[in-house]
Amino acid sequence: MNKNQDQNELPENDHRKLGQELGLFSFHEVSPGAPFWHPKGMIIFRALEEYARKLNDAGGYFEISTPILVKKDVFITSGHWDHYRDNMFWFENPRDENEVLVIKPMNCPESTFVYNAEIRSYKNLPLRLAEIGRLHRNELSGTLGGLFRVRQITMDDAHIYVMPSQVEAEVEAVIETIEHFYGMFGFKPRYALATRPEGALGTKEDWELAERALENALKKKEIPYSVEKGEGAFYGPKIEVHMEDSQGRDWQLGTAQLDLVMLPKQFELSYIDESGAKKMPWVIHRAIFGSFERFIGVLLEHFKGALPFWLAPVQTAIIPVSEKHVEYAERVVKELRAKNIRTELSEANETLGKRIRVAETQKIPYILVVGEKEIETEKVAVRERGKGDLGQKTIEEFNEMIPDAPQ
Ligand code: ZN
Repeated sequence: MNKNQDQNELPENDHRKLGQELGLFSFHEVSPGAPFWHPKGMIIFRALEEYARKLNDAGGYFEISTPILVKKDVFITSGHWDHYRDNMFWFENPRDENEVLVIKPMNCPESTFVYNAEIRSYKNLPLRLAEIGRLHRNELSGTLGGLFRVRQITMDDAHIYVMPSQVEAEVEAVIETIEHFYGMFGFKPRYALATRPEGALGTKEDWELAERALENALKKKEIPYSVEKGEGAFYGPKIEVHMEDSQGRDWQLGTAQLDLVMLPKQFELSYIDESGAKKMPWVIHRAIFGSFERFIGVLLEHFKGALPFWLAPVQTAIIPVSEKHVEYAERVVKELRAKNIRTELSEANETLGKRIRVAETQKIPYILVVGEKEIETEKVAVRERGKGDLGQKTIEEFNEMIPDAPQ
């Protein structure tokens, strides 16, 4: 199969095509369903990661990191070994036939080891443990699709250990973060509340309490949502956040999923309540954008590659009119880089018009042209993506025009 030919047949705004045109990532047969991130793609990934951490810090989360490789015992306890084994990658240790190791497909079970490493009291709850974990799932190769369905997933994951009375406030905070995050991009995600399925584990009272807490949180935030009756997991109800890609296909991104009985019971979670009694906490699995891979795919398609300034791999292109102006252009590059603006110098090896067009097709937010006039006045001629020529500005003036990084 010819890969390039394949790419050409994709619709124009397909993230796989954009990823190649903008030099962000590539896929190779040697690792199906796992992107190779190129330097420019890695900038997007990192910016998103930094922002996810900022949100976590502001939201009172603590970051943890748990092993990628764990003994199968963890997944025997969680039940995945029996029901989910074919979806996981696992192998026998070639040096010890009694040791079977699993490459983790999710962070949840291991998060409980951190929780259980100390005796927890009601005073410690809610305990919010975040993990930007790298996960692997053995998806069938036929179902893989660019960044949307991958085998290697990086999740903006967190597990919140709560008393039942704390669920509503926690879920409200999660929804608030989701609204803020998606709103920043102008996204209008679709919310769904998935409720108790047939044969669910746990008591009816717990389920009612849990469903009401999720519903109240959505209502308080005035979020329109659909109810997906009976579509919850067998261990708890959930809120799902969906978005459509450029072809109108629906993808799940964020989630707030309640776990009333599974992790708490299987991993014997407990806390000491106010009266000194041992109680079982509930766990909220939460993700704001879900997977880095999928979300970057959605971003690329939504913005047709023209990412917001803070995510743009190259934020400004400096274009000297001719060879004579390269020295000044280099000085501008240096000054902007000192201000942490990702800047690229375009060599004076083609016509000016051609180089401007190249920078435009790379969807660079600002193009700064420097020639004789700019050198005389110590300025740069600014062209903004989508707006065109904004005239001459000093570096300071240009710096002030630049949008702030999101808070
Ligand atoms: Zn989880």
